[in-house]
Amino acid sequence: MSKLTIKSVETIIVDLPMRRLQRFSATDAKSQSVVLVRILTGDGIEGIGEACTPSGPWWGGESVESIKLMIDSYIAPFIVGADPFSISDLMATVDRAVFGNAFAKAGIEMALLDIQGKSVGLPLHDLLGGAVRRSLPCSWPLATGDADKEIEEAEMMLEAGRHNIFKMKMGALPPEEDVRRACRVAEGLSAKASVRVDPNEEWDETTAKWAAPRLADAGVVLIEQPFPRWNLDACARLTKRSNIAIMIDEGACTPHDMIKIVEKRAADLVSLKVMKSAGILNSKRIADIATAGGIELYMGTFLECSIGTAANMQLAVTLPHLPYGGELSGPGLVADDIAEEPARYEDFELQLAPGEGIGVRIDEDKLNHFRRDRTDKIHSIKTVA
Ligand code: MN
Repeated sequence: MSKLTIKSVETIIVDLPMRRLQRFSATDAKSQSVVLVRILTGDGIEGIGEACTPSGPWWGGESVESIKLMIDSYIAPFIVGADPFSISDLMATVDRAVFGNAFAKAGIEMALLDIQGKSVGLPLHDLLGGAVRRSLPCSWPLATGDADKEIEEAEMMLEAGRHNIFKMKMGALPPEEDVRRACRVAEGLSAKASVRVDPNEEWDETTAKWAAPRLADAGVVLIEQPFPRWNLDACARLTKRSNIAIMIDEGACTPHDMIKIVEKRAADLVSLKVMKSAGILNSKRIADIATAGGIELYMGTFLECSIGTAANMQLAVTLPHLPYGGELSGPGLVADDIAEEPARYEDFELQLAPGEGIGVRIDEDKLNHFRRDRTDKIHSIKTVA
């Protein structure tokens, strides 16, 4: 048995406080919970991964609690004792044993890839084809629902040199009010910033008919996932008649989804997300199909903390063409992080961190402070018989 054999898989739920309330179409988030995955090999290399959801199960059905349970009970038994270099074989085995649960699988694959990088002394992007960029322009989410506050927040980000792209979460307000809010923000920031909107599947085709041209007139440059994820035909019709870019996110989770999007010309671009696609390698497969089919790419996020963000960045820097950049801005939304060096944003771009593997080290003190199973927290939970 090789010394690189996997000795243990550990999962830890971490609850990080948010800097401010994040309002999605389906939920309000006050904290961001993530699952830290630590995989240890026989010769002492530790792979780190992160699995998280955008504040609960509304997006993909998984929650941090289900991710932890799925890994501990059903995935880890296949990983312990295996060779971390057999990722394709391991993930195929896991796929046969566990249907769905893409987020849990992504956390595992991330830690395995981190081990590979560390064991050969290379950053992960060098194993993925090499870097074509060292930084990525990333959007900042505007999601409080109050246009004045959102303009103020954007101005602060512009002044700090952190973000000059803003993505407005829509769908929590009635469409008329929501479109008015987005137009106000886009007009307020015009010439200074690029503004995009994401209704997270909340629109119907009738809404899109009047909303899309109005948003375009106000200077919004992109609409993300306006319709329910299954409705590629509606998205194709909107893409054809709009003078504003249309992006699919929820509807592009697997390589099979991507083939349908290419066939139907259902969007101008798709958002890649490591979590929804069960890992970095699958995301690359989706990226290849999109590129071959003439559909542009965007580097999406589930608001991972600095660990998952660093891993996403390892993928993003290998993608030659990202005309609208990405949105790896999770680390800025949490008030504190568990990485030793949190993600760095300079000149309006996220900077690629140096280092082997995904390039992140855990701050053990912070981890102990924010982990959910901290002993003093466990004692405070009343048991109901
Ligand atoms: Mn989205």
